[in-house]
Amino acid sequence: MSAQSQDNPALPTYEDVVAAAGRIEGIAHRTPVLTSRTADAKTGATLFFKAENLQRGGAFKFRGAYNAIARLSGDARKYGVVAFSSGNHAQAIAYAGQLQSVPTVIIMPQDAPPLKIAATKAYGAEVVLFDRYKDDREEISRRLSTERGLTQIPPYDHNDVIAGQGTAAKELIEEVGPLDMLVACVGGGGLLAGSALAAKALSPNCRIFGVEPEAGNDGQQSFRTGSIVKIGVPKTIADGAQTPSLGQKTFPIIRALATDMVTVTDAMLVDTMRFFFERMKIVVEPTGCLAASAVLNGVVPTAGKRVGIIVSGGNVDPKALAGLLAD
Ligand SMILES: *Cc1c(COP(=O)(O)O)cnc(C)c1O
Repeated sequence: MSAQSQDNPALPTYEDVVAAAGRIEGIAHRTPVLTSRTADAKTGATLFFKAENLQRGGAFKFRGAYNAIARLSGDARKYGVVAFSSGNHAQAIAYAGQLQSVPTVIIMPQDAPPLKIAATKAYGAEVVLFDRYKDDREEISRRLSTERGLTQIPPYDHNDVIAGQGTAAKELIEEVGPLDMLVACVGGGGLLAGSALAAKALSPNCRIFGVEPEAGNDGQQSFRTGSIVKIGVPKTIADGAQTPSLGQKTFPIIRALATDMVTVTDAMLVDTMRFFFERMKIVVEPTGCLAASAVLNGVVPTAGKRVGIIVSGGNVDPKALAGLLAD
């Protein structure tokens, strides 16, 4: 947990989502809401796809990262921030830091795809590589934070990150009106927690569902048992959801506001990637397909309902995409 969340143990609220929306306005894209007659016919529902694959940096993570950096004051801005992730959070922090002239240090595994390391450096970040089999990245992050005065910004368990992620659902409901259901993917739960805060405030009767890969259903277990369940790194193509558990902040919000958590298989995710590519002409990464996959496969029944679906990201390597779609 970061120093900041220890100083401020209160959980974020919808007011924080509204404040975050003000900070990112004109900077984050107000991403389009897409519809598909084919998907509506298949489900008997009216589906609204919030296309965060078209967000800056290719995922909703830009919202939380930008908001968290915008909240830093004086010295913290000068010294900069540190984040660890091989995925979208790292890129989002690097990008948001560059836009706000705040130095960023990103801790990445030394076997991360060279393209990803290069892209992170191109956003102006200092990249610190670690050995994922020997080193403890959280320990490296803590050490850099102490030695250099860097503020740690974790990928989901942080009030400003959760509030920023909630702005996507806020935009969606403001654009299309009240929803019967909102469906979002879950890794550490930042997106779902923020979305739930927005949905309960703007559309109080909206039922909220989280979707995980079948191999990594720690969130579902936690939701159903009432305490945080930790698992080993799940084996799934949904790499953005390979988190060991929900967070100390995301879990209580999800537990209080969500209706249920469900899972989908990797085979369903591939079908959904293909659906997005062929029918809706958009590129969505496997993790970004989780919510749509649960709806299109009837894991969450939606007939007759107005349903919001967060399409969380589109960062997929072209070779991986081609391989998955060709099978
Ligand atoms: C990070 C990420 C997720 C998971 O988000 P959490 O806030 O950790 O639940 C889902 N999809 C994509 C594309 C992501 O980058």
